[in-house]
Amino acid sequence: MSQSKHPTLRPETDVLTRGFDPSLSVGSARPAVFRSSTYVFSSPEAAERAFDIMGGRAQRRPEENVDLVYSRFNHPNAQILEDQIVPLEPGATAAAVFNSGMAAIMTALLAVLEPGDSIIYTVPIYGGTQTLIQSFLQPFGIHGIPVTAGDTRGIDQAIQSAQKLRVILIESPANPTIVMTDIRRACEAAANLHPAHNGAGAGERPLVMIDNTFLGPAFQHPLSLGADVSLYSATKYLGGFSDIIGGVALARDSSLMNRIRSKRSLFGNIMQPDECWILDTRLPTVGLRMNRQSKNAQRVAEKLNGHPKIKRLYYPTLFEDAEQIRIYKEQCDYPGGLLSIDLHGGKRAAFDFLRSLKLARNAVSLGGAETLACHPRSTTHSAWTPEDLDEAGIGEGLVRISFGIEDWRDLLADFEAALESI
Ligand SMILES: *Cc1c(COP(=O)(O)O)cnc(C)c1O
Repeated sequence: MSQSKHPTLRPETDVLTRGFDPSLSVGSARPAVFRSSTYVFSSPEAAERAFDIMGGRAQRRPEENVDLVYSRFNHPNAQILEDQIVPLEPGATAAAVFNSGMAAIMTALLAVLEPGDSIIYTVPIYGGTQTLIQSFLQPFGIHGIPVTAGDTRGIDQAIQSAQKLRVILIESPANPTIVMTDIRRACEAAANLHPAHNGAGAGERPLVMIDNTFLGPAFQHPLSLGADVSLYSATKYLGGFSDIIGGVALARDSSLMNRIRSKRSLFGNIMQPDECWILDTRLPTVGLRMNRQSKNAQRVAEKLNGHPKIKRLYYPTLFEDAEQIRIYKEQCDYPGGLLSIDLHGGKRAAFDFLRSLKLARNAVSLGGAETLACHPRSTTHSAWTPEDLDEAGIGEGLVRISFGIEDWRDLLADFEAALESI
């Protein structure tokens, strides 16, 4: 829909003022919900034009109003949401919304990967993403190359040596040990790759895609670091209340986004109008919520650091590894709302701790206004082998906490009491 009239506005202002024209919603100050599955054309010629543009046979002219067609392809609430989310991701020119984070990841990958291509991906990575690559893309002839998150030299070497490398998919920080991977460095390695070097088509350098769910959009800006696509599970911080499932892809290059959108039309995984409307109401507060969540996590992490029942604590301001400290300082504005603690006493201690919590709730997922805690080894990462879990630092005593927006002093008291109960 309409672009911002003031292209220099800061994100917090832009998100509230662009992308929505009240005159198209009978003057309503907030967008209406358009639940129609199909749209009446203004003329047969306009219908023909809309199909030509959708089919890639014609290009939309700047300022041209193209008729809507059918809600699997596009609908007003998706357009409004996409226009309003763009300013939250520095460097983005276009967005596409999906009915889950997995749908966003899958569609972005399948928009560019072909049989015979390679994809490099960091591990640990979200379980669904790992299964998508290993159990779905590999049998289709796409070669998956895992690299250890945070292993800067290992990633450089993988980029240099991969054949027909099409995508580098990085999740940073990694879950649940908060290991960070140098995004800028991977983007530079991809950009410097000579096209003839690894058999990709002429002029086709590999695309860098970042799963930015844990620190974006407030604290980490992959497109500014050189990445091509920033991906989200909007179920987490963007949605912010543990009440919707959604996904977003954002890109610097709008023609790449058109490729992703055309696959979305084919797969039928666009976000539905009601969900778009809900997510749209959450955008103006995502920065406020994430700041509060990060402050809560940081205060509690720093208070719990050194607690006799805690073997090790994983939080960016408490990193000890020099390379991790460097990446954190260069790449992130704030440490974020996720904290993992490894308890003395293994699984039993972790389960006692979770059972004793009164305020924080024992659930997977993250990013909501309420504090959640889980035991990754027996839940989110239970499909891993014991060797892989140990190597990634996902021990029997590890508990991951996603901070909400409660008062941090109440949360600290809750955690201290639960630690005493072990
Ligand atoms: C939750 C999550 C996903 C998957 O998102 P869904 O909305 O559940 O499909 C992908 N990546 C990360 C990092 C996640 O936390």
